[in-house]
Amino acid sequence: MNKNNKSFYLYFVIIIGLLLFTVWIGTLRIQGNNYTKGEFESQLKNENVAIAKISPNKETPTGSVKITLKTGEERVLYVTDVIEIENLIRGYGLDPVVESVPEENWFLNSVFPILLVTTICVFFFVMFNSQNSSGNSGGKMMNFGKSRARLSLGDNKMGLGDVAGLKEEKEELEEIVEFLKEPGKFTRVGARIPKGVLLEGAPGTGKTLLAKAIAGEANVPFFSISGSDFVEMFVGVGASRVRDMFAEAKRHAPCIVFIDEIDAVARRRGTGMGGGHDEREQTLNQLLVEMDGFGTNEGIIVLAATNRVDILDPAILRPGRFDRKISVASPDVGGRQDILKVHARNKPLGDDVDLEQIAQTTAGFTGADLENLLNEAAINAAMDRRVYVKQEDIKKAFIKVGIGAEKKSRIISDKEKKITAYHEAGHAILFHVLPDVGPVYTVSIIPTGIGAAGYTMPLPEKDEMFLTKGKMKEDIMVSLGGRIAEEIIFDDITTGAYSDIKKASKVARRMVTRYGMSENIGVINYDNDDDEVFIGRDLAHAKSHSEIVAGEIDKEVKSIIDECYKEAKEIIMKHESVLHRCAELLLEKERINRTEFEALFE
Ligand code: ADP
Ligand code: MG
Ligand code: ZN
Repeated sequence: MNKNNKSFYLYFVIIIGLLLFTVWIGTLRIQGNNYTKGEFESQLKNENVAIAKISPNKETPTGSVKITLKTGEERVLYVTDVIEIENLIRGYGLDPVVESVPEENWFLNSVFPILLVTTICVFFFVMFNSQNSSGNSGGKMMNFGKSRARLSLGDNKMGLGDVAGLKEEKEELEEIVEFLKEPGKFTRVGARIPKGVLLEGAPGTGKTLLAKAIAGEANVPFFSISGSDFVEMFVGVGASRVRDMFAEAKRHAPCIVFIDEIDAVARRRGTGMGGGHDEREQTLNQLLVEMDGFGTNEGIIVLAATNRVDILDPAILRPGRFDRKISVASPDVGGRQDILKVHARNKPLGDDVDLEQIAQTTAGFTGADLENLLNEAAINAAMDRRVYVKQEDIKKAFIKVGIGAEKKSRIISDKEKKITAYHEAGHAILFHVLPDVGPVYTVSIIPTGIGAAGYTMPLPEKDEMFLTKGKMKEDIMVSLGGRIAEEIIFDDITTGAYSDIKKASKVARRMVTRYGMSENIGVINYDNDDDEVFIGRDLAHAKSHSEIVAGEIDKEVKSIIDECYKEAKEIIMKHESVLHRCAELLLEKERINRTEFEALFE
């Protein structure tokens, strides 16, 4: 399309140039050294004028008079009535030269318009022509409706070996690859191969990566497109793109069509938020129609990825469409170690780097986070002009990725520092004492990039499938620990505990409304805040509970928080000596590690 664009601009420039040229020609005629009528008359009176030449315009009686003074100077006067001015001149005894009315300007009036029209015609002709010869479905002026899918035909070097962990996910996808390679094996036994496979999972868990790896592995044509490519300003464009893409895919079967971030098009219909959903609905309808349209074993498999299955239109998940769902989970310890290994391949590691230990301290990190972690570490190494990555680099990167870079340079008053030290010590003690949380990995009072005055980082030891009531209560207690320590020591409280309090309240509210963990409310879900995307729908619906229940919920939340506060305060009071020693150590060293912290309890 580039070539066409170029010629388009060339013609455009030519036309603009011609237009400017005409305007310039027009202005030519009103240039010169002009006179006012008064000046003109006084020159006549003083008998300074040697020659007067009257040139009527085409639109008589207007015209101009050019006079040549006796000194040789020439001046022009524009007049509305040449007859009047001729009489005036004759009145002063001068005999003016009167030119005849000019001929039509043949160039401007006949040739130029023809030229212009011809140019425009040629321009359009060329546009259409090049479109026809280069495009396969000709006649379209602009290719709005054309699919933007990128086709790759086995030039993809990536394979499943580049995807670490995700064992089950890979196995499921290998089935698909098998089918495309050898369909007979499946159809012989009457197996129906899924038409669509939906990869779902948190951002950065490797969905796009998996799809690319499959493309490399399958050795069949692979169309990839992003959901947002379908969403255009013009109604109907998205639908037309979908049609186009599937037409193309059928021509290349067996093949894989990959739609990344499909939630952009396949959002639940009719929620009425944000307006302009007509276009998206049409696009989605077209997608559904196309997926229903091709036969079961026709050899097209549609792969799609999303991190928001919850907002997808249910129609898309019906059998015969995306009937296979693969959830791509955040990696577990083993997976994390494998991912670290993959990304450490091209980074020389010092012998003090222990990937296993890093994997253990990064529960909750996705593949993308881990990749980022190692990359930051490598940057740290490079900044030190080292050619290998040390454990120290990774430690720094860990804090930078997890918390935002430490800002040692910010100046904080001693009082602030002291409050922060006690605050963090309060968190840390609870992490240490409570059985289901912690242990403490680092406690620091170095301010972080995200505006926290300090932080206490626990060392997650296990990946948890679900939370228990006890664990959630301990989480609340730990969050409150900072505020409690401030209260015990300073007899006053600060605003520094804002996010702690917010977090504690959120956990407590969820315990009541989502997990049925309070006696008075019972095992009922009153929680609808994971549907935020559908504000429109929620506004239209009645609230799922009455004001009375809302009051009850608030009461329950408060009682959970109060109870946790009391219990946590008792624990901290019991370890008050540790609190003081910990705060002192923090003030001295700014950051202490696990061993240093645990030594305080002896
Ligand atoms: P998403 O699930 O959001 O599509 P991506 O597939 O784009 O995530 O992953 C982002 C990056 O994270 C990848 O380019 C890769 O470097 C890294 N990554 C994620 N998961 C893995 C994995 N299982 N193995 C190796 N690298 C991974
Ligand atoms: Mg992605
Ligand atoms: Zn805190």
